[in-house]
Amino acid sequence: MAKTKISVRDIAKELEVPTGRLQQILTELGISDEEARRGLDPDTAQTIKEMAREMSEELRTLLLPPEMTVRELAQVMERDPTEIQRHLLVRYKQLVAPHQKLDKETIEQVVADFGLKVRWEEPEPALVQPITPIGTQLRPPVVTIMGHVDHGKTSLLDYIRKTRVAEREYGGITQHIGAYQAEYQGKLITFLDTPGHEAFTAMRARGAQVTDIVVLVVAADDGVMPQTIEAIDHAKNANVPIIVAINKIDKPEANPDRVMQQLTEHGLIPTKWGGDTEVVLVSAITGQGVDELLETILLTAELMELKADPNAPFQGTVIEAKLDKGRGPVATILVQQGTLRRGDVLVVGKTWGRVRAMFDHTGKAVERATPATPVEVMGLNEVPVAGDPAERVESETLAREIATQRQEAEREQKLGQIGRRPSLQELFKQLQRGEIKSLNIILKADTYGSVEAIRDALLKLEKPPGVDIKIISANVGNITETDIDLAIAAEAIVLGFNVKVESGAQQQAKTHHVDVRTYRIIYELLDEVQKALKGLLEPERREVHLGTAEVRAVFKLSRGITVAGCYVLDGKIYRGRPARLWRGNQVIHESRIASLRHLKEDVREIAAGYECGLTLEGFTDYQEGDRIECFEIQEVEKTR
Ligand code: GDP
Repeated sequence: MAKTKISVRDIAKELEVPTGRLQQILTELGISDEEARRGLDPDTAQTIKEMAREMSEELRTLLLPPEMTVRELAQVMERDPTEIQRHLLVRYKQLVAPHQKLDKETIEQVVADFGLKVRWEEPEPALVQPITPIGTQLRPPVVTIMGHVDHGKTSLLDYIRKTRVAEREYGGITQHIGAYQAEYQGKLITFLDTPGHEAFTAMRARGAQVTDIVVLVVAADDGVMPQTIEAIDHAKNANVPIIVAINKIDKPEANPDRVMQQLTEHGLIPTKWGGDTEVVLVSAITGQGVDELLETILLTAELMELKADPNAPFQGTVIEAKLDKGRGPVATILVQQGTLRRGDVLVVGKTWGRVRAMFDHTGKAVERATPATPVEVMGLNEVPVAGDPAERVESETLAREIATQRQEAEREQKLGQIGRRPSLQELFKQLQRGEIKSLNIILKADTYGSVEAIRDALLKLEKPPGVDIKIISANVGNITETDIDLAIAAEAIVLGFNVKVESGAQQQAKTHHVDVRTYRIIYELLDEVQKALKGLLEPERREVHLGTAEVRAVFKLSRGITVAGCYVLDGKIYRGRPARLWRGNQVIHESRIASLRHLKEDVREIAAGYECGLTLEGFTDYQEGDRIECFEIQEVEKTR
């Protein structure tokens, strides 16, 4: 006979700790959300219980930011927002809306009332205003070249570099710093020269968006291929305009019309066919059409009115970084706002340092760099990561302090103490609360046939009004790290059909808590998504009275614990269920039955006619004659 599985929720309930915190600990132990959802076998559950008991203090401590809305607080406390609202009203006479922010003091009180503790997230010293294009001046566009392997991305970048970069190289050696600036008709264009999609998505996954325009290279003799589609998905998801370069038109078998036809199937309709996608025919070998491509880039940029303020505080992003044997940590930083100067003190991600020297893409030492200029920077204490933000600060002391704080924050995050990425369930809950309006999906399947079939079926699922399913990308192949990066960037879940999750991706998903699910039966995949969507229909709630107990005596135990000695008047009182304390016809407190005892024994429930000792969560001020009403909230799922 199969042993019964024990759910994490039950363990959490029994130990009276938040399920989310317990799950975090489990994740650290290598037990995935998925496994936990399926339930633990009794032996594992027992071990976990023992461990959790020992760390119960820690499990009851929530790591919170200093300001939260009622709704956010309710979510981490695993309560209904209305419960927190009611508590604030009843206990503190405060009427607060779910989206209203609570201050530190109130959060601390509420959390304590519910038997939990707070540890505050360390605020980062505020030094950066978010990038706002205050824009006193136009700046060059930043372009990334994407497309299928062998379609000519590197060749195109090389051709432009050879023909359009001003000759300033030392000894004729082209410097590879991860980006360069080309000049056409007196105007500059910044090209990120790490072709391929990893750089783009890895940066986006880290919250950095540096690309203004994507040039999608499609070989005229090969047409739209899987990575072409992937590139379209990435660019669309990042909301970056695409200019198509149909390459290799020098080849006799080139068939640009066929490529354009294929592109329309993916929503890119060429301007000459009445759409709004610029398409340029080029050859990276002969150079045909390259000028027209540069002109199109500049025109597109002009329409976008890309601006930055060279006098604003400096902000940039790391494009590439490495440890150089002779020079130590070297990072290519793209200036996005303000001006970077030699001698500036920087915080770059979790690293810091004073800019000892700067070089441009031709290897020339420079004193300053303005917006959209990539420069190689020397002087950081360690190697930062591509996508890291770079900011200028006043002193080395402050820089070191911020970098250290970030390192510590990361360490804590690794320990699973900072909020996790939403799982499927959490995303659905957020949808339900109206915090997000679409469920973002990345789909991978074994064949084009199944990709299409599943995509169509997903889009046809019945959805509650105002909620949408968004297929961020749908492709053939195993689930890779790029998919996970995209999922992080797009807050999406990853669904796989008849495919594997590659080990790197598995690790990546685990680290970043991306929900990845694989299926072998299409119906199961659809069913799971549909079920969850049904749950989105706002459930009706009904309060059900369970029982009433009257306080007959108050016992003050050692360690500051006060127990209400009660007699159950009607129904039953249940440990762990919600309860409110009435004094006369006033509600004094509302929380949960924290403990319940009968004749020194812990009990789960106690019926009318019996005596019991009980405590309410976060309350000690019982008086004889108080009545404690135990109830539960039942949700009635709406079907239509
Ligand atoms: P990437 O993988 O997209 O960076 O592609 P590469 O730039 O490495 O190009 C792949 C191959 O296609 C190389 O052998 C190039 O010489 C060739 N190639 C690239 N562009 C053209 C072109 O416009 N015409 C011709 N005939 N060959 C090209």
